[in-house]
Amino acid sequence: MSDLNYTVELVPPDIEPYRAGNTGVEYVTTFEARQAGPHVLITALTHGNEICGAIALDRLFQAGVRPRRGRLTLAFNNVAAYHEFDARYPIASRYVDEDFNRLWSPATLDGPRQSTELARARALRPIVDAADLLLDLHSMQYATAPLMLAGLLPRSRDLARRVGIPELIMCDAGHAAGPRMRDYGGFGDPASSKTALLIECGQHWERRSAEVATDVMLRFLIAVGSVHPEDVAGIGGPDFNAHAKQRVIEVTEAVTISSDRFDFADDYRGLEVLPEKGSLIGHDGDRDVRTPYDNCVLIMPSRRLVRGQTAVRLGRFVD
Ligand SMILES: [Zn+2]
Repeated sequence: MSDLNYTVELVPPDIEPYRAGNTGVEYVTTFEARQAGPHVLITALTHGNEICGAIALDRLFQAGVRPRRGRLTLAFNNVAAYHEFDARYPIASRYVDEDFNRLWSPATLDGPRQSTELARARALRPIVDAADLLLDLHSMQYATAPLMLAGLLPRSRDLARRVGIPELIMCDAGHAAGPRMRDYGGFGDPASSKTALLIECGQHWERRSAEVATDVMLRFLIAVGSVHPEDVAGIGGPDFNAHAKQRVIEVTEAVTISSDRFDFADDYRGLEVLPEKGSLIGHDGDRDVRTPYDNCVLIMPSRRLVRGQTAVRLGRFVD
């Protein structure tokens, strides 16, 4: 399997010390403050080969960070896939049976199907149900700028702005193949006050993605009031007060593959802006896929071009 010659610069941390945890669910640890406050959940390894999040959580554990108020829960999600990680075939360990991040609807979680990922999602569901705020740490196939995925609700977009990094905030509805954890339950409900963000930190195995994961995690914890900047200064490289100008991309559609063969018209890596409406993006079987409007942004073109999955998302800068 080709991995585009990306070097695996990151070393997957040993997460065995976190297996027992203290919640009754393996690889889930929770800390409670005396002062009341929100329940914050930080998750890594939703995809088993996205090791930057595991590094960020490991750093948080090693630094002994505790919440000043409320509760802080740290979870390693798809541990079974992570344990299959092999630096020679780093792309292979995204999941064992199916994508953990397409299972988050009550119908699927309560349904009769069985898989490694469904078993893990079902075990984690009470943890996710109990959280008020979620940050899910991910990385991407191509080395493009980090992207905060804020979903469709204004309160999530507001939280992304309070976190202050990265520069790009993407607002989208997810995938036809199934809902993500960040869209599950109250996180996707306009009537709820729960809020979730998903950060795509950069290319899966570049050193910088671990720094982005750490910085975003710390800024998230500061933004929601779990910690003070001085509590985490020892593991943060960032200037916590620096706020870049952030831009928002609204995703208008996901291109879902409907044939047995999908090819891109060019070697897209993501965040290309195609100026003219009608520009050719690729071919889905015999069908041309073209941009629906001027200045269309291509977001996270996939290398797993399989029927029913998302090939690429399309959006535009709105801010
Ligand atoms: Zn991911």
